[in-house]
Amino acid sequence: MMTSTLPALERPWATAVRSNSEFLLQIQRAMPGPCHLIHPSTFAHNYRAFQQELSRRQVQGKVYYGKKANKASAWLREIALLEGAVDVASVPEFVHALANGIRGDMIGVTGAAKSDELIWLAAQHGATLAIDALDELERAITLTRKTAALRILLRVQPENSISRFGFNSEDLKAALHRCHQVRKQIVMEGFSFHLDGYAVEPRAQFAFRLLEQVKQAREAGFPCSSLSIGGGFACRYVSEEDWARFNAELHPGQFHAEKKFERFYPYFQGPTGASMLGAILDSTQGAGSLAEALRQADVALYLEPGRALLDGAGLSLFPVQGYKRIAEYGMVTVAGLSMSLSEQWKNSEFLPDPVLVQMGDSRPQVPVMAAIGGASCMEYDVLTWRKIRFPTQPRYGDLIAYPNTAGYQMDKNESEFHQLALPPKLVITEENGKLIWRRDQ
Ligand SMILES: *Cc1c(COP(=O)(O)O)cnc(C)c1O
Repeated sequence: MMTSTLPALERPWATAVRSNSEFLLQIQRAMPGPCHLIHPSTFAHNYRAFQQELSRRQVQGKVYYGKKANKASAWLREIALLEGAVDVASVPEFVHALANGIRGDMIGVTGAAKSDELIWLAAQHGATLAIDALDELERAITLTRKTAALRILLRVQPENSISRFGFNSEDLKAALHRCHQVRKQIVMEGFSFHLDGYAVEPRAQFAFRLLEQVKQAREAGFPCSSLSIGGGFACRYVSEEDWARFNAELHPGQFHAEKKFERFYPYFQGPTGASMLGAILDSTQGAGSLAEALRQADVALYLEPGRALLDGAGLSLFPVQGYKRIAEYGMVTVAGLSMSLSEQWKNSEFLPDPVLVQMGDSRPQVPVMAAIGGASCMEYDVLTWRKIRFPTQPRYGDLIAYPNTAGYQMDKNESEFHQLALPPKLVITEENGKLIWRRDQ
């Protein structure tokens, strides 16, 4: 039977961990059940790369980590050490950032209509809050009568798509007018947007356009000094050739129950991560690049990458609980649930190949094809519908490793279905050439 493989592009720490069965056995003894391994130093590496794209071009700016992409604390500690910033959208996220050493002036608050509590907290801590609607602005004005001045950005609706976020041009005018009336309370720092998709060009174009708005706002007397281009920095999970072959050979027969999918995340794309920021900054319009335009106007560029900062910084482990034949292929059942792979909850599939980690005594290698199901009673609780070619039949006590799951996969949709505990997150570090693990707290 034909099936394309999609081996994940992995960082060295991840391959080192999943090929070290003694280390994994220690983890399994202390923490039986599914778990997520996370690697803060990879995150820090990704984060610094974004900062460097700005500093190399002498562009002022802040990299706000889009916190919703992963709930662990360890990332926040790294950001604090790098004098970085965090983007939050709820009171618990705000508190979590503060508790891990992020100062209030390095917190950005985005999201749809914010609660009074969140607006109040932002004002008290000197955070920057993206205002999304006129009624939200009115609540902010009322709330800040008794607080320090609130720094805000005005979020602007994307031009060529319909979005529930941001101001349309008419309401933006009204918002600016209102901000001017209350300029002692509300500090209009700039504009923001966040676009769907992962393309360079629309982001660069929108930034150029808003830069003109910034200049106009300054002429109108606003302090207006920054521009946020949001998140959506691309990631690459597999090689270009593998991705092309997979798409060319795609067929329902490759999936358990002949399941059909309408869309997949683009697991190969480019430019990615910090290089994509570089490409945005080097985009030109008229005379010069966006970087030059920002420098000349003395405007700080804010960005809010989530997934791209977590690229390569995590993997998920599921103990094998059993294997059986379904038809001409098999089904591996693992401890844990498909909720620990969020892509499965968007009518899609997390496609980088899961890897069998064989534990215990060695055994003959007789390849099998199998899909991977979760340990619940639901027919649809499937971690991988695609029939994966395993080098031998998975057995109880083995592990299935899912590569590169830190960005959105591991904890976005987890639940305690069947009263199962949520998988713990274990922080992996290297000390004197040895792998060390501890619990993320
Ligand atoms: C989700 C979100 C982000 C992060 O998006 P990524 O695709 O993970 O980079 C940034 N900004 C806003 C406003 C968001 O809603």
